Amino acid sequence: MITLQGKGVSTGIAVGRLTFFERATAVVEKKLISDTVGEIQRLYAAKQTASDQLDNLANTMAEKIGKENALLFEIHRMMLDDSDYLDPILKMIEEQRVCAEYAVLECGKQLSKEFAEMDDVYMRERAADVDDVSKRLIAILSGTQQDLSAGTEPVILASDDFSPSETAQFDRSRVLALVAQQGAANSHTAIFARTMGIPAIIGLGPSLAPGLGGKQVALDGETGVLYIDPDVKVLEGLEQKRQRLQEERQALEQFRGKPTLTKSGKKVKLYANIGSVTDVEAVLASDAEGIGLFRSEFLYLGREDYPSEDIQYESYRKVVEEMQGKQVIIRTLDIGADKQADYFHLPSEENPALGMRAIRICLTRPELFETQLRAIYRASAHGNAAIMFPMISDVVELRRAKRIAAYVRDALKAENIPFNPDTPIGIMIETPASAVISDLLAQEAEFFSIGTNDLTQYTLAVDRQNESIREFCDTHHEAILRLIRMTVENAHKAGIWVGICGMLGADPELTETFVEMGLDELSVEPSYILSLRRRIAEI
Ligand code: PEP
Ligand code: MG
Repeated sequence: MITLQGKGVSTGIAVGRLTFFERATAVVEKKLISDTVGEIQRLYAAKQTASDQLDNLANTMAEKIGKENALLFEIHRMMLDDSDYLDPILKMIEEQRVCAEYAVLECGKQLSKEFAEMDDVYMRERAADVDDVSKRLIAILSGTQQDLSAGTEPVILASDDFSPSETAQFDRSRVLALVAQQGAANSHTAIFARTMGIPAIIGLGPSLAPGLGGKQVALDGETGVLYIDPDVKVLEGLEQKRQRLQEERQALEQFRGKPTLTKSGKKVKLYANIGSVTDVEAVLASDAEGIGLFRSEFLYLGREDYPSEDIQYESYRKVVEEMQGKQVIIRTLDIGADKQADYFHLPSEENPALGMRAIRICLTRPELFETQLRAIYRASAHGNAAIMFPMISDVVELRRAKRIAAYVRDALKAENIPFNPDTPIGIMIETPASAVISDLLAQEAEFFSIGTNDLTQYTLAVDRQNESIREFCDTHHEAILRLIRMTVENAHKAGIWVGICGMLGADPELTETFVEMGLDELSVEPSYILSLRRRIAEI
């Protein structure tokens, strides 16, 4: 048995097979072949695999995002059989005697270019579909495809590090736990694992080598220990701990369905954070009183192109409907920094956390922002939605964002599309600037939610992605607490509510301080809800 020590960032016990996540980086070379018949057979076999995968995807996504939106995968499947797509590939293999990967790449590029140059918007958009289909085929042909939906056994997934866009693609039912060589406790990947209730350990270092792939492992997401080939004694110990955790969870059940109150009867709203539609299940199971942060950017990650207004609308609608009248605060796109999607073509930056991200992208590319706001407003007709802008640091930014929201409302009204015109608009306080001018911002926002993850990074100048400077990141730093107190006071002076949706909101050592400061809401990962309700009841 080998024991590796890392940092536990999401509690829980897991036992299973270790599988290394390898990035699909197919480099296509022009290889000449002699057996063209064999090569065409290879192409047909890959086409069949792609077709099966797309069928599966169409079915599972229909459940997640609705039949209409899952049609995309159906279109991709049909494209595989379309002679406009297939014939040039076959011809190239036969006439030029090149490998199938190269023929798919070149012919796909040509067809995609033809679509991209068409006048009709619908046809232009098909260019991205051609690219998608070609990428899938090449990945299958070259054996570089990361298809986590393949196989049946759930696994413990290992990597050097997981990017948010990679984690967004995981089939959650197939991942027992995440373990990484690097990573940061405050990263979105760690947040994502906690939201899903998947145990996770980061910082295991290079000893977590790909050679360990396929081994039986066990882990404790609290202590951060990963056991390779665990012996019976370890497994028994972990099983006992699993039972203890289960008993602790049972003990919390007495707080289910109860209001969140201090001993003196002060009410605190206890909301949950989510990153995707599927997280609502965890929210409902957690007994949260609403969703205080829907990280909508996860809808944009792990994709090849922008999600359309309809795709977004379906997702937001599903969430507000499933929450049955409880408030759902949808944060507008917070992409950039660690959350990257290639199709945004964001410039590479020296300091991406200080660069083109979040509201800055939305204000610079209003058409993208309008699409998202239209989708959110349309969903507002189906439940209790609210809009929240991230990374605001100036009153002017808030006004500009609100103007775009007003323009969207006018357009929807003119088109007779139903929406709730009184959908509240709030902002995140996650830059020191916004906390310092929270008196001014409170005049123009309907609520505040303090993003302590970024507020901490920007106030203390400690990169939240960089675990090596963790010792310089005192999350209880007086500067942070003063900024929070200042924000709460300014919000209340202006008569608006204020909450926390960063990780600090779940820190039991600060719960009493937050209640004393007067915070109206705490929004945390679903797994913390009942224990936080108990903690508040003790105050
Ligand atoms: C925060 O910054 O505290 C926050 C909640 O937003 P995110 O973690 O997504 O940056
Ligand atoms: Mg943030």
